[in-house]
Amino acid sequence: MAEPHRLDELRALATQAARRAYAPYSKLSVGAALLSAQDAVYVGCNVENAAFPVGGCAERAAIATAVQSEGAAFRLVAIAVAAFAADGTALPVSPCGACRQALVEFGANAAVTFRNVDGDWAQVDSGALLPWRFVMPG
Ligand SMILES: [Zn+2]
Repeated sequence: MAEPHRLDELRALATQAARRAYAPYSKLSVGAALLSAQDAVYVGCNVENAAFPVGGCAERAAIATAVQSEGAAFRLVAIAVAAFAADGTALPVSPCGACRQALVEFGANAAVTFRNVDGDWAQVDSGALLPWRFVMPG
């Protein structure tokens, strides 16, 4: 379980990561920062493409970096997601469906934090974001 101060750290790093987002089409800049069970932090930002499906989300960019560093042993403890409009306004954005599936792959009880519609930081378990997630049978 991530301690509150670690979540604050992740929120700040996600905010920084969003500044590096490549989002010329949606103008929605998203940053993610995650904490691994090995006590390492990894960040990612969304990277769009003129061919829209080629683009990728901040959360999965951070996960890819974590797996690159830690390999199959990577386990997700917590992740913060921060999203901003082109004018810098913070927006309430939670992980998309694909990212929810990616999150539970590495931690079904990870803390996921993002801004709600009131501008406050919500915090939920990754499993609660996707209760009927896909699980490979067998
Ligand atoms: Zn996503």
